[in-house]
Amino acid sequence: MYRITLIPGDGIGPEVAGAARKVIDAVGVEILWETVNAGKTAWEATGSLVPEDVFRSLEKNKIALKGPITTPVGKGFRSINVMLRNKYDLYINLRPVMSIPGIKTPFEEIDLVIFRENTEDIYCGIESAKEKGKAEAIKIITEYASKRIAKSAFDYAVQNGRKKVTVVHKANILKLTDGLFLETARGISKDYPMIEFQDIIIDNMCMQLVTKPGLFDVILTMNLYGDILSDLCAGLVGGLGVVPAANIGKDMAIFEAVHGSAPDIAGKNIANPMALILSGAMMLDYLGEKQAAHRIRTALLKTVESRRVLTTDLGGTASTEAFTEAIISNL
Ligand code: NAD
Repeated sequence: MYRITLIPGDGIGPEVAGAARKVIDAVGVEILWETVNAGKTAWEATGSLVPEDVFRSLEKNKIALKGPITTPVGKGFRSINVMLRNKYDLYINLRPVMSIPGIKTPFEEIDLVIFRENTEDIYCGIESAKEKGKAEAIKIITEYASKRIAKSAFDYAVQNGRKKVTVVHKANILKLTDGLFLETARGISKDYPMIEFQDIIIDNMCMQLVTKPGLFDVILTMNLYGDILSDLCAGLVGGLGVVPAANIGKDMAIFEAVHGSAPDIAGKNIANPMALILSGAMMLDYLGEKQAAHRIRTALLKTVESRRVLTTDLGGTASTEAFTEAIISNL
């Protein structure tokens, strides 16, 4: 019996987290879900954005499935997501992006994995506006953090039969920060002669991705570029509703979708739960429950490929609940 923290989140979070939990329970892995909540809903219920029981539960269970949490733009608290990643040093943000049979896009056979450094960069939140009309933000890149994310990306490439790691940067302009990230990754690459090493400037990368995404295998990058490229890559394979993610540290992991809380469709029972269900499959892989993870992916792919029951973002008319039930019936 696994004990897992479930954080439903805000917006469409409770809908997609409920769906993911249902599918995981249906596959038969015995899980004791400990439900705690953070974000807007938690604030309304308890007056705290991250009540103490969230920290307690994460620190006890060391593993969580998490729905998205709203972050207000330009005011109030900084992102709870970023805070959790930093507090628990979840330095790997792993995002597999794959073409899915049944979802028609201009591209086929995309199969890439993004390794986004999750603890540094401009996301450190060191911003100031000391003079009127002038604001600044500080970008932090360290050799320590660059080394460990680069090593994780290369280790993943070796363990998963990948051929190439592409480092994405802007070292032509940011010579010290991005330069350090690039040179550290290049140094690590020397320990992996069997894996091709390539580097590319972020602007060129965006163009290459929307014209020839099949060129890429493992993408290694810093926090901000990784955030942006993740949504771009999601767009290549069918949108934000279909791409899962994991935040992984030394002894804790939080699994969540790439997408946010989608306030525009929240509460309507139309959100696509696929991304969080696939994040749940990644969580089962992490736990060593490979067969259960495989069954979930197979049932989900079968459901999508038949195109009989699909949510509106994928061109169908089904509700979140109907799509979830269709996946469960295909398990
Ligand atoms: P978003 O990802 O929530 O939504 C972008 C667009 O994609 C919207 O049109 C939305 O309807 C659609 N979409 C997203 N997920 C979908 C799904 N599962 N099914 C169908 N359509 C889906 O991005 P946003 O609107 O920029 O952000 C909303 C909030 O979420 C912001 O406060 C942001 O900070 C937060 N956010 C949280 C996380 C997280 O918790 N990890 C990640 C990203 C954004």
